[in-house]
Amino acid sequence: MEQTFIAVKPDGVQRGICGEIIKRFETRGYKLVAAKFVQSSEEHMKSHYADLKDMPFYGGLCKYMSSGPVFAMVWEGQSIVKLARMMLGETNPADSKPGSIRGDLCVNIGRNIIHGSDTLENAKREIGLWFKPEEMVTYTSCAQAFLYE
Ligand code: UDP
Ligand code: MG
Repeated sequence: MEQTFIAVKPDGVQRGICGEIIKRFETRGYKLVAAKFVQSSEEHMKSHYADLKDMPFYGGLCKYMSSGPVFAMVWEGQSIVKLARMMLGETNPADSKPGSIRGDLCVNIGRNIIHGSDTLENAKREIGLWFKPEEMVTYTSCAQAFLYE
C-alpha cells in the first residue's frame, strides 16, 4: 500500500478545517498511520519545500508555513499519492473544481489550506522529514476487507 504526506496548513488550522479534511480522507477509505499537531521551524519548511527554492514565493511560503501550527498526517491506501492530489484540487483554488478540498474550502493560492505529496518519491522524502519511524503506527483497519477485494 502507498503512503502519502498530508498537512493542514496554518490557515486551515486557524479556520477550523482540520476535522473536515480528516473526514474526507477517512470516509474515502484511507487509513491514518501517523499524525501530529506542530509548529515547525522555517528551516524545516525550507527543507520540506526544497524543490521550490528558486521560486519567487519560496521565502514567503516557508515563513508563512512556520508562522503557526500545522496538522501533519500520513495516510495509507491504494494509489493514494495520485488520488489524494485529486482530492486536494489544483494548487490555485481558483482552478480547483467544486468537490475538491481546495475547490470547496478556500480561494487564494497562498492560503490554499492543505499540502499533499505530489509523487511517491516526494511522499517518502516528506514522511521521513516529518515523522520518526517509531511515530508511524502499524495496525489493520477493520474496514480493510470491505475496501479492497
Ligand atoms: N504557491 C504560491 N504561489 C504560487 C505557487 C505556489 O503561493 O504561485 C504556494 C501554494 O500555497 C502552494 C505552495 O506554494 O500550495 C507549494 O507550491 P506547489 O507548486 O508545490 O503546489 P502544491 O503541491 O501545494 O499544489
Ligand atoms: Mg507541491
